[in-house]
Amino acid sequence: NTPPSVPTRYAERFLEDMLSAWCLDVEYVRARGDTLFHLDADGTEQAVTDFVGGFGSLLLGHHHPAVVDRTRELLAAHTPVHAQFSLRTQAHQVATRLNDILRREFAGVADEPDGGYAAIFANSGAEAVEAALKHAELERVTRLTALREELAARLREAADAVRARTAVLGDRARDLVGPLGPDADPGTVAGALTDAVVAHNAGALYRPPLLLALTGGFHGKLSGSVQITHNPAFRVPFDGLGPRAVFVPADRPYELERAIAHERAYALDAVTADGVVELVERDVPVFAAMFVEPVLGEGGVVPLRQQDALALRRICTAHGIPLVVDEIQTGAGRCGAFFASSLIGLRGDYVTLAKGIGGGIAKSSVLLVRSDRYRPEFELTHSSTYAKDSLSCSVALTVIDLLEADGGRLYRRAAERGEALRAALEAVRADYPDVVADVRGRGLLLGFAFHDQSDAVSAHVRGLSLGGFFGFAVSGYLLREHALRLMPTGSAPHTLRVEPSARITDAEIARLAAGLRDLCEILRNQDALFLVRP
Ligand code: PMP
Repeated sequence: NTPPSVPTRYAERFLEDMLSAWCLDVEYVRARGDTLFHLDADGTEQAVTDFVGGFGSLLLGHHHPAVVDRTRELLAAHTPVHAQFSLRTQAHQVATRLNDILRREFAGVADEPDGGYAAIFANSGAEAVEAALKHAELERVTRLTALREELAARLREAADAVRARTAVLGDRARDLVGPLGPDADPGTVAGALTDAVVAHNAGALYRPPLLLALTGGFHGKLSGSVQITHNPAFRVPFDGLGPRAVFVPADRPYELERAIAHERAYALDAVTADGVVELVERDVPVFAAMFVEPVLGEGGVVPLRQQDALALRRICTAHGIPLVVDEIQTGAGRCGAFFASSLIGLRGDYVTLAKGIGGGIAKSSVLLVRSDRYRPEFELTHSSTYAKDSLSCSVALTVIDLLEADGGRLYRRAAERGEALRAALEAVRADYPDVVADVRGRGLLLGFAFHDQSDAVSAHVRGLSLGGFFGFAVSGYLLREHALRLMPTGSAPHTLRVEPSARITDAEIARLAAGLRDLCEILRNQDALFLVRP
């Protein structure tokens, strides 16, 4: 019975009400570079400097002219956009360029696949992660099926040999079969051996997959990808929807060894040699894949240290577990190279990209899989109406062209702007060490971490902190008072993400620093009134 004059809000009204409580309820009407515009009460445009860059998709800024022009040309030429199950040259071009970049950036890193990396296109970051999960499980199931067939064939041979009296049971086989009595005929012994081995192996050979991921990691919120997203608030209600993940801290790789040993499963292989059937343990692939981010993004912008990355790499290789490097937030130039993992020499078996390759216009993602692990039949089992469309592929090509131009000037620019930004944030921290705990990150993916305020003097600040809303409340203050757009990271609410475009200017950085100083002063004095909506 709502009167027609009252606008209804059906689309995520709860979220909008929360934004309103934190003074973040602004509607932007125009965007360019690192600036967003909203209208004030008089209808005049007010500029806001955007330091969250679409949460990582806007290294080129909003509406980069080359990306916009390319999109316009494509539409003007009536280029087919939705033409699935036809040949897609642009997709090949994107994959070729990505392979060229991989070859260059990982030139000194061991284990380059001869055939490069195959590409599966998808729509969102989480979908690329989903594709990685499914491909990894396809690999595991294929190995499991081969192992099951191999074990079954050898068990048949062993049973036949026992039945034919050309072999007897060895110690372990006798223990497993149990007492049969002295008069058991060879046929009974063969049958008992088969039953006992099959029963023993059933659990190991048919168990569901487990996944490995880092404590604090974030890989998306779909029903598979959310299982490897560490934040319990996102994950726990949906535990039942997907495979269980084991989380290990990035800075303690031996925990990974421990977790793998703890979950080890083996099957018994009946090997007949010299007239004796021996049972030999064969490891069964339990973990489908391990997922890592080169910099934990939503987990508070924590870079993975090179020695830890290489230790994780070594352990995964030793156990035959594919390592998925999630470059959805770090990749496409943000950290000062196309692949942030190349800066720490971490070669992924799979690599995911999204956000940045959409150039701020398209929604697309891609999963890269080492050719020696790639299973072509995956192309028929995973697909989407929208994936690999010419619009998002053309935009991706434009993004790659821009990043690679002038010998990679934009990578150097991202690194240089990142250093300028970091220096400004460090200077704020130096003046407010009681308020600011850390400044960290890589290139233009930085985190500004406040000390935990859970025991703050001000009851209001304490409440914000305990409720997990501290980061939103301070972001609201920075927006309202300083026209700066910041946001906390998804799983570390005391850390503000700072990830503007590579065009961010010294003047804009100085404005950010001034706003943060003002905020730090408020927190130092616990003037909570400033953080309350006027
Ligand atoms: N992986 C990482 C590392 C991310 O940062 C994100 C998004 N924050 C995702 C996956 C999910 O991407 P999307 O939001 O496009 O589904």
